[in-house]
Formats: sequence, C-alpha cells, structure tokens
Amino acid sequence: MMSKRDYYEILEVSRNATSAEIKKAYRLKAMQFHPDRNSSNKEAEAKFKEINEAYDVLKDEQKKAAYDRFGHDAFKNGAAGANGFSAGGFSDIFDMFGDMMGMRRGESQRRSGADIQIQAEILLTEAFSGVKKKVKFQTKRPCKTCNGSGSADKSHGSRVCSACHGTGKIRSQQGFFLVERPCPTCHGTGKVISNPCKKCHGTGLETQDKELEIQIPAGIEDGTRMRIPHEGEFGPNGLPAGDLYVHVSVLHHELFQRDGATIFCRIPLRMTQATLGTEIEVPLIDGGRTKVKIPTGTQSGKQFRLRGKGFSVLRSPARGDMYLEVKVETPQHLTKRQRELLEEFESEEQEGQNRGSPETSGFFAKVRDFFEGKS
Ligand SMILES: [Zn+2]
Ligand SMILES: [Zn+2]
Repeated sequence: MMSKRDYYEILEVSRNATSAEIKKAYRLKAMQFHPDRNSSNKEAEAKFKEINEAYDVLKDEQKKAAYDRFGHDAFKNGAAGANGFSAGGFSDIFDMFGDMMGMRRGESQRRSGADIQIQAEILLTEAFSGVKKKVKFQTKRPCKTCNGSGSADKSHGSRVCSACHGTGKIRSQQGFFLVERPCPTCHGTGKVISNPCKKCHGTGLETQDKELEIQIPAGIEDGTRMRIPHEGEFGPNGLPAGDLYVHVSVLHHELFQRDGATIFCRIPLRMTQATLGTEIEVPLIDGGRTKVKIPTGTQSGKQFRLRGKGFSVLRSPARGDMYLEVKVETPQHLTKRQRELLEEFESEEQEGQNRGSPETSGFFAKVRDFFEGKS
C-alpha cells in the first residue's frame, strides 16, 4: 500500500494555517483538478480525491485536532488510533450516540423559546361557572428597537462565527463519545451580528410585560395546569415561542366544600329547630337559593341530598349533587327564662324515662350492664 501523503502537504499550507487559509488553498486546488476541467485524466481524478479527503479533515476542527495528534492513524478503520474513529465516521458515531440517548440528531437543541409557568387564583364560584381571567407575566418578545433582528444596522449585517466556523455547532470529547452542542457564541446560527443592537445586546429579544386573558373552563379542579400554546418566551434566532403554563388554584370557600362534582355544605341548626322541625333556606353554588324542609327530630350529622345542585362537570353540561350536613348546636349563655324552661323540659324527660331520646336511654342502659358485669 502506498504511504499516504500529509494532508497539509496536499493542500500546500503550513500546519499553522488558519481555517480561512485552508479553505482558500482547497478552492484553488479543487478548481485546478476538478473533473470537469480534466475529463478522463486519471491522475487529476486521483488528485481531486486526495484534495477533498485532506480538506474534509482539515476543515473540521475535531478531525483536524485528531489528525494533528495521530496523523493518518486517527482515521484508520479498526485501528487503535484516535479512539478508532474512521474518516467520515464522526457523524456516524454521533448519530449512534444520539439514538442511544433516545433522540434524533439535533433534537437535544430547543426548537422553541422557553415555556413560562405562572399561577392564577380563582374563586370556587368562578371554578363552577368558568371565568375569563387576566394574567400578567414577564416574557421575552422580539426587541422593539431592532424589530427582533438583533442588529443595530438596517442592513442586518452579520459575519461568520469564528468560534464554530459557521457550523453553529461545537463538538467536544467526553470520555469515549463526541458530544455536539449548539455553539454558545452564535447560539447555533453560525453567524454573529457585526453591530449588535444596544438594547438587546444582539439577542433580538427583550423582556416585556405581557397581559393575557385566558378562559378557565367550568368544572376546573384545583391544581390544574393549563397549557396555552405559543404564549411563552420567543426563542433566539426567530425560533417560535414556547408555551405558557397556568397553574390554577381554587381558593377555599367559607360555605362550600367540593369533592369532584359533589358539593358539601354544613348547616348548623339550633337544637329547637332540629327538634321541632323547620324549613330553612340554603345557598347554592350557582348563586341561587333553595328551601329545604328539616323534619322534626333531625339528628346532628344527618345528610340531605339536593340532586343536580352540585358542581359543574368539566366539558359537560352535567352537574353533580349537593349534600347538606346538619350540625345541631347546643345552646350556650342561656337567659334565666331559657334555663327554667330547659330544666322543666329535663325533669319531664326523666319522668318519661327519656322517651324523646331513645339513643341516650339505650346508651345508659348499656353502661349499667357494663358495670354490673353483664357485658
Ligand atoms: Zn434589539
Ligand atoms: Zn458559533
């Protein structure tokens, strides 16, 4: 096998040549030996191949570095050169690495601006009916000074990024693998703005206050995260906006508790109301009211169901049920007259052996049996 010529020799450039010098040398040589100009000239064809092979390595920062260190061995198939990478195999390795990580090439880079997360607090009644809510947040929008171009010139002049030589990507060795990431200097565009806008420092974006009216649907649960597409931050280099996420918290209500589509409402009743029976007016979540009959002798903890008076169901005209739970309140701070009346009531109860309170008399009968060793 013929020994390979040095790539720098082929292009006739020094080892310290800049990438621009290498490119220039390649163009001259390629033009000279191009097959279009040298039809059926085998020697020119071989030269042209050689030139391209040399340039393919020297134009690439990574390959050039490997070649500078290991010479042709860096690109020998199966050789223990620069980690055994073969010429042209760099991207294959990267593809493999990307696939291993479960992503296609380039998908590790953002395709849009950043998402924004904000909080919105609403009343329980608003969660019931649905509500249009104004939300305010800070976002990144195209700079007004430069219309998002990032350039202070009208011509939007830019030059090739010197950090990545216009490729927009920086490769680095991490252990065995080559890792490719967007160039931080030019944010992956391969270009840098010659005269950056003073306001946005060439990013083309500025932080702005934004107000948005969002429609919160009826029946929304506390803690729901709503996604509003494309209302997030604009990305650099004209990438589309990210999404806005609104975390909705539903505030505690003094009268109503909610569990899904069911509403609970605790109704305190005076002892006499619960005893004698009454009719009460109860509030409804929809802002209305309804009358409920409390039968005589209603116990504390008793529940009444109001069918279809509960909470709204998300994306449905249906409504759940409402439960009223009675809590009988023991009177305190009696007047003299109230005390007399109740004492009279009590002596009547004892004479009648707790006829009106069967659970109480039953309980004390069980206690008696317990102390007499019968249970
Ligand atoms: Zn600007
Ligand atoms: Zn760059």
